[in-house]
Amino acid sequence: MPSYSQTAEAYAALTTQVVETINAERGVNLQWTVIEEDGVLKVSIDGYLITPDSRGGPPSYRTIFDEVDEYVAFWREPAPRSFLPRDRDAILQELSTLTKRRLLWQEKADLIGSDVVRTTFLDWRLSVYLVSHRTGRPPPEFRDSRLLYQWWSYGGHLPRLALSWPTGSVGLANMDDDEEDIVDHVAAVLRDEVSEEIHALWPTCPLDRSHQLLADVALWRCPQDQRVQIPVGRLGIDLAAS
Ligand SMILES: [Zn+2]
Repeated sequence: MPSYSQTAEAYAALTTQVVETINAERGVNLQWTVIEEDGVLKVSIDGYLITPDSRGGPPSYRTIFDEVDEYVAFWREPAPRSFLPRDRDAILQELSTLTKRRLLWQEKADLIGSDVVRTTFLDWRLSVYLVSHRTGRPPPEFRDSRLLYQWWSYGGHLPRLALSWPTGSVGLANMDDDEEDIVDHVAAVLRDEVSEEIHALWPTCPLDRSHQLLADVALWRCPQDQRVQIPVGRLGIDLAAS
């Protein structure tokens, strides 16, 4: 049974209106069906499943439209050849948010970078920066709210944050800005990368160098002895056990 009060037919009728509008506005030709999965009605576009956020009620034209439109504008390959004012607004909004978030991520990355420099021979500097989703190219640039190059040459993707170190880089998950989660996430990436680079475990436990510390709520912890709790960013400075 669909969990929404509306029938699959009514849902399909709404989706038809949405897809026809988007096909016309964006010059695409979306193929779609409505399917039911685990009792929930979903739109399948080229096999990509969209579950409109119903916020408690049956999905409206607007909720279906927003989900499908975002998919077509920013996630579907290839990017549409149209660039609409609402795309510009969405990108500017995302750039503004990410520009602020980047500073927080960089601050936390610097903590882990200082641990690396202090406890290994690596002179690594970590950098958090903005890239285009998937393409890895620089994010779109605007001048007076006008995109500086053609939309489809950019690839039609939203920007996101990425982390780089001298031997590699990784896209950062679209996480909430919980500061301890950020520290733990970056620490987990660097634990593997540094270990590989120095051909040894990093960071090792000060009590027993045969095993690695794990970052948990922004503390380097020993998996065997809970007295070992060193704040990330204080490795090689603070005493191991308290
Ligand atoms: Zn230990």
